[in-house]
Amino acid sequence: MNKIIYLDNNATTKVDNEVLNAMLPYLKSEYANPSNVYSFSNKVKNDIRLARTNVAKLLNANTNEIIFTSCASESNNTAILSAARNNPTKKHLITTCIEHSSVLQTMEYLESIGYDVTYLSVDTKGRINLDELYSSIRPDTFLISIMFANNEIGNIFPIKEIGRIAKKYGILFHVDAVQMVGKGKIDVQELGIDTLSISGHKIYAPKGVGVLYVKNDIPFTPLIFGGHQENSMRAGTENVAYIVGLGKACELILNDNYHTNIRIANLRDYMERRIKENISNVIFYGDLNNRTSNVSSIAFLGVNGKDLLFALDSAGVCVSTGSACSARTP
Ligand code: PLP
Repeated sequence: MNKIIYLDNNATTKVDNEVLNAMLPYLKSEYANPSNVYSFSNKVKNDIRLARTNVAKLLNANTNEIIFTSCASESNNTAILSAARNNPTKKHLITTCIEHSSVLQTMEYLESIGYDVTYLSVDTKGRINLDELYSSIRPDTFLISIMFANNEIGNIFPIKEIGRIAKKYGILFHVDAVQMVGKGKIDVQELGIDTLSISGHKIYAPKGVGVLYVKNDIPFTPLIFGGHQENSMRAGTENVAYIVGLGKACELILNDNYHTNIRIANLRDYMERRIKENISNVIFYGDLNNRTSNVSSIAFLGVNGKDLLFALDSAGVCVSTGSACSARTP
């Protein structure tokens, strides 16, 4: 294949070499089922424990609050449906209109069975208005579900303030943190978060593994029943290699201490500056001073986005005109 310039890391990332090397033994020799009691299972058990510790450290959570899942879509579904199941007398949820489809479609499902959902609007910079959040709260609101950072424009939402509001009104707070992990500090305790989702393949670990953080004192109902794995909160034999890979990716983020972000933000800013200098009629979208380091959302007036995407593709440059989940939507 010719050299490609991959600029679509919010869609997915390449597996890091250190992550891959950490995973390989579990795809070859260390194939024991972690649930078994013989000593062949001990290394597997220990390394899952280590992965859990690394995820917990990254989020400032306790290890028993970390559940490994198959992806962030599963984590989002689990968190929202569990909140609904544990609040049977309440029927109202709040989210935003720019969440990932795994949140929006779970909300639509709940609407189809009698729930009410408020979708907070965003302004021209993609920001939500906290007054609108306040005025949406009802006595029967049981969940606020808001992403930490947006996948298309990179906006970082005021999670700490929202956490405070949720707490004040006794409402559960779920955060889809998929696009924030590795981009900035996430402290679930300081931010007042009850449940939070992470995806492996956005942080240089493989596709097909995720995390759901569930705060210790909140009522929780699993989405997948059938075994005692993950502290009986998510059944299914553990995907050991992928869990170890995700743990390694979290360890790398902890060791890097967000230095890579500064380098990426500088490169992004340089690219935007050069585009501004050389091309007229360009619009940069999003909350430009409050977005993740790796996102640039640009419109070239008079140019069709899809045409530009195909032209860049033929030059070996990978970009998106929207999230990967909606790319094939008719
Ligand atoms: N949430 C956000 C913000 C995302 O960008 C994505 C993936 O595109 C997901 C959730 C879903 O992650 P996964 O592919 O692990 O299900």
